[in-house]
Formats: sequence, C-alpha cells, structure tokens
Amino acid sequence: MAAVLGLATIEELRQSVHGAVIAPSDAGYDEARAVWNGMIDRRPALVVRCADPADVVAAVQFARSQGLEIAVRGGGHSLPGFSTVDGGLVIDLSPMRAVAVDVPGRRAVVGGGATWADVDQATQAAGLAVTGGLVSTTGVGGFTLGGGVGWLMRRYGLASDSLVGAEVVNADGSLVRASESENADLLWGLRGGGGNFAVVTSFEFRLFPVGPTILGGPIFYPGAQTADVLRAWRTATTAMPDDLTTLVSLGSAPPIPPIPEAWHGQPVATVIGAFAGEIADGHAPVAPLRTLGDPVADLLGEMPYLILQSLVDPGWGPGARNYFTSSFLADLPDAAIDILAAAHGSRPSPFNEIHIHQMGGAAARVGADASAFGNREAPFLLNIVTRWLDPAEDEQELAWARGLRDAMAPFATGGTYVNFLGIGDARVRDAYDAQRYARLVELKRRWDPTNAFHLNQNIDPNGGVGG
Ligand SMILES: Cc1cc2nc3c(=O)[nH]c(=O)nc-3n(C[C@H](O)[C@H](O)[C@H](O)COP(=O)(O)OP(=O)(O)OC[C@H]3O[C@@H](n4cnc5c(N)ncnc54)[C@H](O)[C@@H]3O)c2cc1C
Repeated sequence: MAAVLGLATIEELRQSVHGAVIAPSDAGYDEARAVWNGMIDRRPALVVRCADPADVVAAVQFARSQGLEIAVRGGGHSLPGFSTVDGGLVIDLSPMRAVAVDVPGRRAVVGGGATWADVDQATQAAGLAVTGGLVSTTGVGGFTLGGGVGWLMRRYGLASDSLVGAEVVNADGSLVRASESENADLLWGLRGGGGNFAVVTSFEFRLFPVGPTILGGPIFYPGAQTADVLRAWRTATTAMPDDLTTLVSLGSAPPIPPIPEAWHGQPVATVIGAFAGEIADGHAPVAPLRTLGDPVADLLGEMPYLILQSLVDPGWGPGARNYFTSSFLADLPDAAIDILAAAHGSRPSPFNEIHIHQMGGAAARVGADASAFGNREAPFLLNIVTRWLDPAEDEQELAWARGLRDAMAPFATGGTYVNFLGIGDARVRDAYDAQRYARLVELKRRWDPTNAFHLNQNIDPNGGVGG
C-alpha cells in the first residue's frame, strides 16, 4: 500500500499535519503499530499520530481520497484489534490526551486518546470522578463509546451515561459537535453504539464527588469455596445499596505480600467491592462481603480511589495473548454456579479469570431514549477473560472460553456487551434490542453511509450483521 501511495503523497500528508506520520520504513514503526492484545500483529500503511482535531480531519480526508481503510485508535485495548489494520491508515489519537476539569461546573473535557489514568488523575485532584475502567491503561475512547462498565456504575451509571457532549470528525472530514441540544441523535449513538459514527476528538463528561479516599478493594477466598462464595454473594447482592458495586473474579491469587505466600498463584474466588458514598455509611453494606467463606486475605478497606483504579494494572500489561467473550445473565441459579466453579477449576491458563459483574442500580435506570446501550435489565454480566503467552495454546484457550460461554447460555439473556467481545465474536446485534439496532442503522446511514468507519463492532448501514 505504501508503495502504491508514493513518497510524494505521504510527504504531502506530513506537511499538512502537526503530529507524526509513520510509514513502514520509518524508525518507530513497530512501536507505533503495536496494540495491547499480543494476538494482533498488523502492518498499517501509515500511522498518523494526531496532535489535534485538524490532524484528524486531514487524516480522514487523506485516507478517503487514497481509498485506504481507516482504523481509529484511542487506548489501543480493543480485544479483536479494531484499532489497527493491514495496509490501511491508523488514526492514532494517543497524543490527544489532555483533560480539562471545570471544578465548579463538575465537568471534564477529555482528549479522544486519553486513558482512564489520565482522567482519574486530573479529576481526583478536585475530588471528582466519572465511572472509569478497572484497568487504568484502558482508553477512554473505545471504553466510553461501547458503554463503560466500572466501579462507580451502580451509583452514577456507565461512563457513557455521563457523556454530555463530544467533538467529532465525521466520515466526510467535517468537525461536528454532539450534545443534548446539537445533533442529539449522534450523542445518543455515541452512548454505547461504538466507534461507528465518527472519530471523537474530545469527550465531555459530567463528574461526581468521589474520594479521594473510598472504601473498597478485594477479599480473596479459597478456590475450593468458589461455589459457596458465589451462592452467598448472589444472596448478598439482593440487599446491596446502589452506592456499592461488586464483582466476583474467579482466578489465581496474585503474588503480593498481604496474601500468604503459600496462596500465591493458587485458585481463588476474589470478591471486589467499591463503595461510592460516604465512607462512614459504607462499613455496614460491605460487611456481608467479608463472610462469604473463609477469607485467605481481606484487603477491603479505605484506600485512595486512584489506587483502586489501578489496583489490578500489574496483571494486565500489553503483549500477552488475550480473548474475552461475554453474556448478560438473567439469573445466577445453583446450576449456573456449579458450571462456573467447575470452569474455575479447569482453566488451561492460570491467568484466565471469570468475571461476574453485579449490574443494576443507576446503570439500570437509563431509558432507551437516552442511550444506545442495551441489556440494562440484566442483573449480572459474565465476562470470560482468557490470557496466555504461547501461540500454541490459542486453540485450547478459545475452546475453553467459548465452551464456558455456551454452557452458560441457558442462564443468559441472549444479550452481550460489545466491549467484552474478542476475535471472531460477531455478536453485535446481541448487544442491542431490535428497536435500538434499527435506530443505530438509521444513524449509521445518516452519519457514515458508506461505512468508512467499519473497524469496530460494526453497525452495517445496510442493516446486515457486521463484525
Ligand atoms: C485490560 C482491559 C481491561 C478492560 N476493562 C474494562 C472495564 O473495566 N470495563 C469495560 O467496560 N471495558 C473494559 N475493557 C474493554 C474496553 O472497554 C475495550 O477494549 C475498549 O474498546 C478499549 O478502548 P480503547 O480506546 O483502549 O481501544 P481501541 O483499541 O483504541 O479502540 C477500540 C474501538 O473503539 C474505537 N475508538 C476508540 N477511541 C475512539 C475515538 N476517540 N473515536 C472514535 N472511535 C474510537 C476504535 O475505532 C475501535 O473500534 C477492558 C479491556 C482491556 C483490554
């Protein structure tokens, strides 16, 4: 592709943008093309590191005039590798990560390539936050556009529920604003409809008072007690206030000092909670989480919100091989718990985790007119997270994850979450009910009729199933 483009053409692009334009022959190409998931190894014709919205306009126009496929990169954490492309042009927003906080107005304007670490650090300086990711290196872009499930969601909704405005570059290269009063249809689509409609150069979020210290953290239970812990947790969730968001992760104990050394690497059921209200009000609601079994270590306590937000970062660096697959669950009956506990015991990789997110609260109280995100009525969200190092193990890992997903199908709603789908999971229609999907198709026809932005959980403007 680069040869087809010609050096003179690339040079013209270089002259017209403020950021770097990186071609395969340039130093730094391999670093520029690398994404988080080590299973993805693609060779774009160009990576345009956009410094500002004008660069994004230039990159979109250049790609379209040269007939290049467009990949948009926020934080680069897409599981299926949507933020890179063989032979096409990557619009890399990572230089655009400034966060401007309006403290009295409780708003933040966040660059399209920012990570949650960028946002949390800037907003926590003022004791404010918006629902962010469980791993702080995740990009705000893909995370928010897909929905955004995090520790504050039962109190303050998903990340996308707090999205009040966005500056975007659309498919014909124009700068457009979306808000409640301007292009409100587009704002609706950006709240859960993914990167289908435009490149978002900045997100504007509503912020809430959170921290700087909150009550939260993990409690580790022996893997042998997984089924009992899940049963007790299921019961406990029925009485939890919206201030408390919890998750059970079936994985291995991390090698950290507060956990007795004999447990390092052993199977554990980890219950993690975050209380978003006043700390004094949180001790009673979190108490039941401490007695779900016989804890190996109880680290739930007062901690800086910034620490909670980066607590599991060390286990989730770039480069390993990863596949996620996900379903909303209608219920968690004993039969489902037995399947989950057995799968916990049969994980092929010790890095694999099975996450059961507690949904509900504020995230469940958002109407269809406010947001494209669907499946809000489901009480639980299952995310099967596989992670391994050796390509020879790909097949057994994918088989284990998909086997578990299929075994859990009788307890699932049929719905899924676009951001927790991995390579080959063409289930975009399951993320939306029929009415929402029809509205998304209409929106796609209006904003991107030729599907220039198709490297995402794709809404086909012709109404077919994308992916
Ligand atoms: C380690 C890890 C932890 C995670 N934790 C959570 C979690 O706690 N909660 C949760 O809900 N999800 C979580 N996810 C899933 C995450 O939300 C998705 O992987 C998301 O797509 C990542 O966004 P990104 O910007 O980093 O990805 P990218 O790979 O950069 O982009 C993903 C998609 O979004 C589009 N996109 C990104 N930025 C923009 C933009 N500015 N404008 C237009 N389109 C854009 C891209 O084109 C692409 O289609 C996690 C993923 C990983 C790998």
